[in-house]
Amino acid sequence: MHFNAYGGNGAALAAALVNMTDFSPATVEATLREHRMVRTAVNQEQVAELRAWAARLAPVFGERDQATQIKLVNDLLELTTAKPYVSAHDGREPHLHLFSVEADIVVRTRDTTSGGLAMALSFAGGERLGRCDREGCAAVYVDTSRNGRRRFCSLACANRVNVAAHRARRLAR
Ligand SMILES: [Zn+2]
Ligand SMILES: [Zn+2]
Repeated sequence: MHFNAYGGNGAALAAALVNMTDFSPATVEATLREHRMVRTAVNQEQVAELRAWAARLAPVFGERDQATQIKLVNDLLELTTAKPYVSAHDGREPHLHLFSVEADIVVRTRDTTSGGLAMALSFAGGERLGRCDREGCAAVYVDTSRNGRRRFCSLACANRVNVAAHRARRLAR
């Protein structure tokens, strides 16, 4: 896992899987690679397992009740088994691994995402694992902004809400 206070690639991958609509092997592989996973080849069955896992990750994002959010993350950790260890493989800087290198891509993804969410919750705070505030948008994100006040999944959603608010104010005048 490529660590930072916001859960590194693990939390970012968790958000990407939750937001994924196209669960085809090619798209899933591309997303895994984008989030620094290795040996990312997946078959139909593994894609189905990752889709089911994404559904388990989803409720962690945007959960405002701290006790509930902690329980959700602990339930994920309960299902993942790898022992953490430090590695400097391939000439890289020492970094934390939360998965066994021998494990298959589904297990490595589960370990990495649950570990990433646990890190984000512990080091940055649960409100950093957010869900878009625009009505009708369920996309999730990891808020890595300096002030931690991000409300929307994207600039597009932020703009749509701001334009609507602006219009409503003009109508009110
Ligand atoms: Zn590594
Ligand atoms: Zn949105």
